[in-house]
Amino acid sequence: MLYWMHREHRCRDNWALIHALEEAARCGVSCAVAYGLAPAFLGACIRQFGFLLGGLERTAAELATVGVPFILVRQSPDEAIPELARSVGASLIVTDFDPLRLKRQWIQAVCDAAPCAVVEVDSRNVVPCRVASDKREYAARTIRPKIHRLLDEYLDDFPAVPPLVAPWRWQVPPVDWEMLRAGLGVDRTVPEVSVPFGPEAGEDAARAMLVSHLSERMPLYEQRNDPNAPAVSGLSPYLHFGMISAQRVVLETLARRGGKGLAVPAEARESFLEELVVRRELSDNFCLHTPEYDGWNAFPDWAQRTLDKHRADNRDYLYSLETLESGDTHDPLWNAAQKEMRLTGYMHGYLRMYWAKKILEWSASPEEAMRHAVYLNDRYFIDGRDSNGYTGVAWSMGGVHDRPWQERPVFGTIRYMNYAGARRKFDVNLYAARMEALESRMRDAGAV
Ligand code: FAD
Repeated sequence: MLYWMHREHRCRDNWALIHALEEAARCGVSCAVAYGLAPAFLGACIRQFGFLLGGLERTAAELATVGVPFILVRQSPDEAIPELARSVGASLIVTDFDPLRLKRQWIQAVCDAAPCAVVEVDSRNVVPCRVASDKREYAARTIRPKIHRLLDEYLDDFPAVPPLVAPWRWQVPPVDWEMLRAGLGVDRTVPEVSVPFGPEAGEDAARAMLVSHLSERMPLYEQRNDPNAPAVSGLSPYLHFGMISAQRVVLETLARRGGKGLAVPAEARESFLEELVVRRELSDNFCLHTPEYDGWNAFPDWAQRTLDKHRADNRDYLYSLETLESGDTHDPLWNAAQKEMRLTGYMHGYLRMYWAKKILEWSASPEEAMRHAVYLNDRYFIDGRDSNGYTGVAWSMGGVHDRPWQERPVFGTIRYMNYAGARRKFDVNLYAARMEALESRMRDAGAV
């Protein structure tokens, strides 16, 4: 039995691993976790590969404590996994669900070449994506009742990792993590972000981030649109790499209801669960049912029509990819947000919307804007290449999951955001000053 891990990089709270081990016990056979490390992945740099490997090393160690071997093959999984399955005579491959195009191609290729059945388990969404809806949903309001109706059925607590009933008889090549990291042929121009300037990788660090969120930040979650407030969870790198299960986050959030520490207003908890469950699961729904989720064709008809109508509008500013990348626009808030992204691999959610909408405003066409935003998003964010990112950009620029607003130049009826609106919401000067100070601290520490 093989569990081919490629999205849920964790030992704990992982339905795919649990299913593989239960099937192995039922059939009286052994089971291993297999990982195919592709030489490149959708433009990921050492920033993302380093975080991934840091987490995988800890997960491999955690798997060892429950006796499950971890086999890492330095080859694209669409080739590595069928080969491995053949060499050990596997009777079943269990794998993760992922709606992104490249992953769908990999999974299809493994299904075509594998000597046995392949089962996909959705450990990402609390209500499995294919169960929640079989079509592209229009908006949060259409998927919300579907998810809520099924939550009770799927919101089970996780069992312990089932024991391995038979020893693994095949070779498990040792992994030299240092050598592996040093030998990666990936782009190193976007560096890793080390603690304390970025998150520590792995399941334990993800758990620690959840614990601190529940007691310190979630009580303030109603202030989540203020990038200066310590109100948001910071969980997205961990959720993106599957180092923590969203279902675990939901269970702990609900358990916190009567707990110790700062009181959590009911509205704060509900808003957090809305983002974590409804909005996040809507993103997987969008990518699964929209093969071109990162292009013009992903936009609804009304958004394409209105953007087409305003194609020739005069733009006050037009910026090249290089100017955007270096954060050299006329807008100090945008530049500060771009600085946060470049330095830390993270950006506050409110600013991600502002950031993308300004790229639309300052680009020669919506297609160019989308290309530049997706490129920068995936190059710098630790949590990039995520269905949330593709959906967030398509929401900001192409009205996906939104509705028409008041018509204006360039945007047409796509929802608009501007500097004055941001200034009404929070202290933009404080935010820009914080980013300046962060840069000098990182420079002093030799981190940039
Ligand atoms: P919290 O507010 O603490 O939210 C908890 C979790 O809920 C998040 O980690 C995330 O998984 C989910 N969530 C929150 N907001 C959203 C949302 N609007 N849509 C879907 N899920 C959400 N998210 C990524 O994971 N990767 C990306 O590359 C990414 N790029 C984005 C680009 C744009 C233009 C926009 C508008 C949004 C993007 N998002 C992306 C979604 C969202 O902004 C981030 O997930 C969130 O800001 C991460 O910070 P947090 O974990 O502290 O969020």
